[in-house]
Parts: sequence; C-alpha cells; structure tokens
Amino acid sequence: MFDYVVVGAGFAGAVIAERIATQLNEKVLVIEKRNHIGGNAYDYYDENGILVHKYGPHIFHTRSREVWDYLSQFTDWHLYHHHVLGSIDGKKVPIPFNLNTLHELLPESFARPLEEKLVSKFGYNVKVPILKLRETDDKDLKFLADFVYEKVFLNYTTKQWGMKPEELDPTVTGRVPVYISRDNRYFQDAYQGMPKEGYTKIFEKLLSHSNIKLMLNTDYKEVIDIDVKNGKISLFGQEFKGILVYTGKIDEFFNYEFGDLPYRSLRFEFENIQKEFVQPVGTINYPNEYQFTRITEFKHLTGQEHSSTTIVKEYPQGYERNVKGKDIPYYPIPKKENLELYARYKERARQFPHVFFVGRLAEYRYYDMDAVIARALTVFNNKILR
Ligand code: FAD
Repeated sequence: MFDYVVVGAGFAGAVIAERIATQLNEKVLVIEKRNHIGGNAYDYYDENGILVHKYGPHIFHTRSREVWDYLSQFTDWHLYHHHVLGSIDGKKVPIPFNLNTLHELLPESFARPLEEKLVSKFGYNVKVPILKLRETDDKDLKFLADFVYEKVFLNYTTKQWGMKPEELDPTVTGRVPVYISRDNRYFQDAYQGMPKEGYTKIFEKLLSHSNIKLMLNTDYKEVIDIDVKNGKISLFGQEFKGILVYTGKIDEFFNYEFGDLPYRSLRFEFENIQKEFVQPVGTINYPNEYQFTRITEFKHLTGQEHSSTTIVKEYPQGYERNVKGKDIPYYPIPKKENLELYARYKERARQFPHVFFVGRLAEYRYYDMDAVIARALTVFNNKILR
C-alpha cells in the first residue's frame, strides 16, 4: 500500500510526486487516465517527424528564478522568445498591440502624436490596460482604446469564449494592454525557452524514480473510492489514510453534486506542409477572420530543423463532458457565477483535510506552467513536507 497517492501526471501531479519520491524518500502512486504523462503539456513526434504539442502550443516563460532552476534540473533549454503577429486590416502586425503595431496600422499623422501622448502620460516600457486609456479625458487616447478593443480584442474574445466580453468577468476585458514599447516579444519574463528535448522528456525524468509507481490508462475511480458523505477514501478496496494529491476536476471528485463547472474546449487541426516554413513567426492570431483563433507553427518554437513543417489551427468549442471530441476541459470560464460554484466545491473540500486539490482542474483557474509548478512546490513545502 501507498501513503502518498497523486491523481494526474501533468505538471501539478508530476512535480509533487517527484518531490515526495526524492525529498521525502517515500513511495508514491501516480494515477493517470490518459495513455501518456505530461497532462496538457504533452508533446510527441508526429508521423512526419515534427515535434508537436497535442493539446495546443506551450511556451515556457517565467519570472521566477526558483521555478526556472527547479525545471532546469530536468531539461536543457532551447532559448526562445515567442513572437505573435495579428492579422488586422490585411496586415500582419505585432501582438500585444505596441508602438510598432500603432505605426503599422495608423497613418503617421495619427500615430506619431498618439505615441507622444502615450509616452508622456504613462512613460515608456509599460503596459497600460485599455480600460485605463478609456478612463482618461483625452479623446485621442480613447479612440486608441476603442481601436485596439475592436480590432484586436472583441472578435478574438468572442470566438475564444463563445460569448461577448461583457458577459465575462470584467477583469478579462480590463487586462487587454497597449504596450508602450518597441519590444515585439510576446512575453517579457526574464526566463524564457523551450525544453531542448520537449516537455514529455521532462515528465519522463520527473517520474522516473524508483519510489514512483505510475499507472497510465487508469481513471482514479477504478482504484479509489471517495465516500463523499462520510469524508472517507479507500484505495484498492482498503481504507486510505495517507495523503492524496488530486489534480483532476474538483466537481468530478464530488460527483458533480452542485452541478458541472463550465469549461471552454478546443478542437485542433494539425497540418503538415512540404515547405521548410510557412509563417514568419511562431503564432499568427486571426481575431477578425475565420473560425479558428490562431495558427502556430511548431518549428519556430522548438528550433527543430526539418524539410517539412507542421502547423496547428485552434478552433474554440463548447465543452461537454460526455461527448467525444468535446470532452477535454481546457479553460475555466471566468464568470462570477462559475467562481461562486467553484467556491462551494472548495468549501466542500475542507471535509477532506488530507486531500490537496492542486492545479488548473482542481482549483478551477487558469495557470501558466510556471505558476502551476510554483503552486505544486508551495503545496509540497507547506503542507506535505512539514
Ligand atoms: P493538466 O496538465 O491538465 O494535468 C492534469 C492531469 O490529470 C491530466 O493528465 C489528466 O488526464 C489527469 N486527470 C484528470 N482527471 C483524471 C481522472 N479522473 N483520473 C486520472 N487522471 C485524471 N502554459 C504556459 O505556461 N505556456 C503556454 O504557452 C501555455 N499554453 C497553453 C495552451 C493551451 C491551449 C492551454 C489549454 C493551456 C496552456 N498553458 C500554457 C497552460 C498549461 O497547459 C497548464 O499550466 C498546465 O497544463 C497545468 O497543469 P496541471 O497539472 O494543473 O493540469
């Protein structure tokens, strides 16, 4: 029997399992329902030999030296800065909207005075949310805020979430920035890169410890029984009094007793093309055209050299947990009532003091990879290590 069990072999689960195995030197059982490790960061070589990301493009970036150092024990890095272009008014311009975008989309007679106003009011190298621009009493800055909102944000968001921005939590709209800078990189974090041999190799290293027993192709419900009413857990039919780290959906853990937490799902269309490259940068966003939101060309990210190239188009779609093809929950939907529903499950979780709910599904929130790694390390250090 095990004293430590982890459900899910994504970053949240794999990092905690690695710490339990290495730092505590305890045996840990990792249960994963998919036929592979890595969670949504899983990558593999497609039939053409190109390294692709099965669940959408993942770029690693962090400000945290601690997270970077931790992960660097398991990988070398291909140093990479992500660049995104947006297809707007027939041009491919830098995203997020910055001073270069401004000059490419607007006539110089507009762009120059706008740039001067932005810099003198807010300074240089700062990200100003468009909500803040709208609040100024300067009509030119308001015009700019509306321009960015309509050309870059409105239709992309509507496609992404299947609803108008005003139906979402106001913080989503509030965060859209104008970046007062000529820096065309998508992220400005101090540490950015792609794992040299891919993400899956990181997971192989995280989990290849003699203390870790991995069960793939296993839904936790096949081996774990949760008695929600009495707050008891059994593993392989015997009472389990150890620590359970749960990184699956929190509503599933409680048999959906308060209802389903809504998610947005995605459909990915991969295509291999017999050319070395088809895009100038890693990702091109299509806010105002087509049904997909963006196209990513993997070789830009990974640095792989190959005579052909693979791209992926992302089609947002509704999530339905029992419908094949729509049953992968990607993004928690940032709306007040959903967060309230999550809060009820979170309250319910207090009944299980030895179960730690960690990660994007268990905490019903979007985490970047670095944030989920930081969270996993914190849970381990503060709650499991003791
Ligand atoms: P997951 O990776 O989802 O792992 C959870 C695991 O639990 C899964 O393997 C799942 O199969 C397993 N599980 C669930 N239910 C059960 C069950 N019943 N029984 C057994 N196992 C179960 N982050 C970045 O930093 N950079 C990016 O560029 C980036 N791009 C992204 C693009 C997309 C399209 C999406 C959706 C996310 C992106 N992210 C990115 C975020 C990143 O995917 C998450 O930070 C990360 O996956 C969170 O890890 P996790 O362990 O919490 O969840």
